[in-house]
Amino acid sequence: MSADYALHGTVAVITLNNPPVNGLGLVTRTAAVDGIRRAQDDPAVTAIVITGAGKAFSGGADIREFNSPKALTEPTLHTLIRTAEESAKPVVAAIHSVCMGGGLELSLGCHYRVALPGAQVALPEVKLGLLPGAGGTQRLPRAIGLEPALEMIVSGNPVLSERLPALFDEVFAPGTDLVAAAVAFAEKIAPVRPLPKVRDRQAAHADAAAFLQAARARVAAAAGPFPAPLECVETIAAAVSMPFEQGLAFERERFMHLIGTPESRALRHAFFAEREAAKVPGVPADTPRRPVEQAAVIGAGTMGSGIAMAFANAGIPVMLLESSPEALDKGLTAIRAHYDGAVGKGKLTPEQLARRMALITGTVQSAEIAGADIVIEAVFEDMAVKEAVFRQLDDVMKPGAILATNTSTLDVDRIAAVTRRPQDVIGTHFFSPAHVMKLLEIVRGRATGNDVLATVLALAKRLKKTGVVSGVCDGFIGNRMIEQYIRQAGFLLEEGCTPAQVDGALERFGLAMGPFRMSDLAGNDIGWAIRKRRAAERPGMTYSKVADLLCELGRFGQKTGAGWYDYRPGDRTPHPSAQVDALIVDHARQAGIAPRRIGDEEIVERLVYALVNEGALILEEGIALRASDIDMVYLTGYGFPLYRGGPMFHADTVGLPNVLAAIERFAAGAHGEAWRPAPLLVRLAAEGRGFNDR
Ligand code: NAD
Repeated sequence: MSADYALHGTVAVITLNNPPVNGLGLVTRTAAVDGIRRAQDDPAVTAIVITGAGKAFSGGADIREFNSPKALTEPTLHTLIRTAEESAKPVVAAIHSVCMGGGLELSLGCHYRVALPGAQVALPEVKLGLLPGAGGTQRLPRAIGLEPALEMIVSGNPVLSERLPALFDEVFAPGTDLVAAAVAFAEKIAPVRPLPKVRDRQAAHADAAAFLQAARARVAAAAGPFPAPLECVETIAAAVSMPFEQGLAFERERFMHLIGTPESRALRHAFFAEREAAKVPGVPADTPRRPVEQAAVIGAGTMGSGIAMAFANAGIPVMLLESSPEALDKGLTAIRAHYDGAVGKGKLTPEQLARRMALITGTVQSAEIAGADIVIEAVFEDMAVKEAVFRQLDDVMKPGAILATNTSTLDVDRIAAVTRRPQDVIGTHFFSPAHVMKLLEIVRGRATGNDVLATVLALAKRLKKTGVVSGVCDGFIGNRMIEQYIRQAGFLLEEGCTPAQVDGALERFGLAMGPFRMSDLAGNDIGWAIRKRRAAERPGMTYSKVADLLCELGRFGQKTGAGWYDYRPGDRTPHPSAQVDALIVDHARQAGIAPRRIGDEEIVERLVYALVNEGALILEEGIALRASDIDMVYLTGYGFPLYRGGPMFHADTVGLPNVLAAIERFAAGAHGEAWRPAPLLVRLAAEGRGFNDR
């Protein structure tokens, strides 16, 4: 049973009991319906209270039943709500802590609602690209009025119970025994007839038509590519224009429509992908973790100072170790300037600033960081430098300290091998700016201990990051894929595109930034250094020389005021550069490549399928645990559009046979040597399957 039944005098109390948040799964729904029927049949019962055990009234649909036939098996949520609404004896919802989605819809079917203050009340379906599909769009406007209901449904954001007086018949004083108070309330209203039903009310608004018209314009402008917010408005409008039953049917129809949209599928995919990413086979949730009370970061450059802020923002004390007082001072000054800026913009209070700065201390003595529970190395990307740092860490750090490297490309196993404790070594690959970007690639070395991995996965959460586990390879998941994407971008220049054309196509596809703007931001010299290394490592690998020629001109990007674009002093707006255009044309002529007109579609396919093909190799090699992990990397670290669900999900949506056909077409083109379809892609396409349903 996942709902308990008890008699409190003449009041039956049904307690939803499905941890963690009393999701309304099939077993819980069945038990709740049975409870209401049992109370009907018991002549001694005069009223019914529905409440929730533990940490919630109800968090809504049981996410474990998403995409499963159980969600549609009787009794459905609709049936449960109707059973409560049609009960001949009054039903009181007694709400505390969390009342969301289907949980709120259930309470709206009850005749009365009472609550403790501080309960989070929401209809968050829009965040999954849906709308409340169990009467929420029809009953909430009738319960609290059109305007506040629209705000809640379109935003999906929670509102505290004490701010919703229209929703509740009573909000008790803090600390009240909820069940006892709800039972007393039920006894009081037990004889009252007729039973009040939200469905019988009107959705109140002085000028509904004008309000809805303005809401349509406002919501459409804010929704971008997502259809759900506007569908929410239209179904809420039906609460005004249609009788209740007809409105319910309309809600159902629009809900079923949204379920099938690619945007909602992508949002649901991302929702589950984030949860999946935290799970690692062989590292169960109860794996012992090491304490992380004190952190240290080595190197106070771009990344080190951002990583230190990420710790301070999470309330974890952090020491910054630098090689010289000057470099340390520079890093601390940059941190201070960043926080000052946040105070200036009103994002941080002066007290918060003081607290965060107090958590960050600097040192140039390695002995001072010896007691830290975790140390993250963020020095220059040079194996010899990193090896020297790890030898030193091995000597000074206390036993059991986690030794992490922020390397973007280097071999974590090689770094671990210079220590006598490779089990304590792990990669923590932050993205720039490290205190902002959500992604943390967690690189699991050959010897990394399970407890170390579990600790860093939990730490990612504390730092408010999405941790994604990667195996060891050059560039890990994200940068290994982006190299192929950038490579295609370079080829497209030789074949006739301009940087602005390539960037524009990717940005219209939905990426936050096209490849050339991104390179100008990160610094073109980084890729230059990697290409020089590649020339020695993989002599057969072809790439466009245009980027090297650009770097030879000193056009490293925003930091030098010139890169793929020109920049005016103090302004990050990119302006197309005549010098770069001429460079590209000259180079193509010398290389003997005739320019042609290339459309957006080819540009997007070339770049995105380059990601997909490399992603397939990464998946097959076991570097990524699952396709959805790759999607998380791209959604949280590379600005891939959420409504497309990530590159692998996008490929599944397009259909792998179509992706493969495009790759085969490219393989016959000007830079065909760069295309060799990944065996996994070929196999899945032949089997009619997708990356995400392996
Ligand atoms: P950076 O040049 O800005 O900073 C490196 C800092 O390390 C410098 O301040 C330097 O003084 C210090 N340092 C060097 N040797 C040291 C030592 N032995 N002890 C103490 N301090 C020392 O470099 P960055 O961009 O912050 O990159 C750091 C690491 O992070 C690299 O491995 C890089 O590949 C990786 N990374 C960079 C980015 C990025 O976007 N910049 C993103 C992810 C990862």
